[in-house]
Amino acid sequence: MDTRIDIAGHSVSPDHYIGGRRVSSPATFETRCPFDWSWKLADIARGDADTAAQAAQAATDAFPAWAALSPAERGTYLHRLADLIEANVETLAMIECLDMGMLLESLRLRVILRGAANFRNYADLATDHQERVWSSRGTANRVIRMPAGPSLIITPWNAPFMLSTWKCAPALAAGNTVILKPADWSPLSASLLADLVDQAGFPPGVFNVVQGLGAELGNALTGDARIKRISFTGSVPTARIIGRAAAANIVPFTAELGGKSPLLVFADADIDAAAKKAAGQYDDSGQVCMAGTRIIVQHAVKDAFLAKFHAYADAHVMGDSRDPATTMSALIHPRHVERVMGFIDRARAAGDTIVRGGHLRTPGANWIEPTLIVPRDNSSEVVQQEVFGPVLTFQTFGDEAEGVALANSTAFGLSGMVYTGSAERAERVGRAVRGGTVWVNTFLVRDLTAPFGGIGISGIGREGGDYALDFHSDLKTLQILEGSVT
Ligand code: NAD
Repeated sequence: MDTRIDIAGHSVSPDHYIGGRRVSSPATFETRCPFDWSWKLADIARGDADTAAQAAQAATDAFPAWAALSPAERGTYLHRLADLIEANVETLAMIECLDMGMLLESLRLRVILRGAANFRNYADLATDHQERVWSSRGTANRVIRMPAGPSLIITPWNAPFMLSTWKCAPALAAGNTVILKPADWSPLSASLLADLVDQAGFPPGVFNVVQGLGAELGNALTGDARIKRISFTGSVPTARIIGRAAAANIVPFTAELGGKSPLLVFADADIDAAAKKAAGQYDDSGQVCMAGTRIIVQHAVKDAFLAKFHAYADAHVMGDSRDPATTMSALIHPRHVERVMGFIDRARAAGDTIVRGGHLRTPGANWIEPTLIVPRDNSSEVVQQEVFGPVLTFQTFGDEAEGVALANSTAFGLSGMVYTGSAERAERVGRAVRGGTVWVNTFLVRDLTAPFGGIGISGIGREGGDYALDFHSDLKTLQILEGSVT
């Protein structure tokens, strides 16, 4: 039975994609539009342990033939998929916009195309890979990447298309089959990706999508011994649960987790550029793992910075994400709004100073005003915990050492931003700030071959470039006694 539905003129399947065909579930869960919560977009198949087992079997069955292809042969499929993503930008962008709330313009012009680039990049990296070869102690040594088996990819609700392509591409390029489990608050773009994989002619079972709720479906997937890699992006508490499941089966596990990243502004910086970027952290209502949510400014330029920051923040327009005039998207779900408001209310009650925002824009709608909080001290909850909403903190420092100490004063270490006009300081502070990625005078510009991941509770392992290809492979050292074979 064809269960596809029409959403704003685009056809989407609400079902799983397992073994090259659509599979439904007796139970469903609903997904709604963040900026128009009265709009139910779809009832989605709610997978269970049986769904997980079917997907694990399909991925296991498809693995030997996929692994036996050369990287260049697999690359042909990945490039075909990238072509199809590019040809379907409008549909992917609109569905992602309606489902997750991201701004349509940014999806159309950048984010979806980045998904295509992820597949191209990994097709080429895997094909061009040169095995390391050297001679040692009378033996010829070689490091070989062996496909490892089915990779389980678990993604969060924010930026779901970008993140799923970023994580699935290296697994497929490495010769692994994939089971993708998107988050239940934004499940639709994964289903569209499955359509395109199908159109690209991937062999059945190489790429599977299963839909469902975190613990209900997730535990069955992570506990399945047929899974050989788990690549997770999401929150710290979930990572702890998945880490235990990975440990039980001795399965390599990467975790890209939350952040509480500093945005450090020195007096010698371009203050206007820094203030503009700081106010830009509200763009996606702060629902970005790498966001610089702790603004830390050298005391001498505090007033100049704040004047510009408030002017840029005042210019934000909350509204329908399809409207090009909107600059600040809605929060994903009323439960998330409640969670973010909880941080603001507790900060207020504890004696932190709310210097801007702090309220729902309209009760019942999924927007919270761009909020800036001056904490009573560095131990304040809003400084130490990830809020994942339009809530920034503001602190000042005297000298460089104090600024760096403040920047490094949480348990997180995903990224950092430094604004300075001095090359020496850029180098010194860039090295000193704790984070898997530190940007100086810029933000979010990321080369696909660079490693990406977190320090501390921001994550385990690195993805990106060869790091992800190594993760999804079993690395083997082959040693042959020199002169022993002809
Ligand atoms: P989450 O941890 O609640 O969920 C992430 C995914 O895990 C979802 O697909 C969810 O269904 C699944 N899940 C939940 N319980 C599970 C279980 N027991 N077993 C298996 N899977 C399970 O996170 P979220 O709220 O969806 O996403 C927001 C978080 O993600 C934030 O902390 C954010 O910083 C982080 N994030 C990190 C990055 C990064 O690259 N470091 C990128 C984006 C988001």
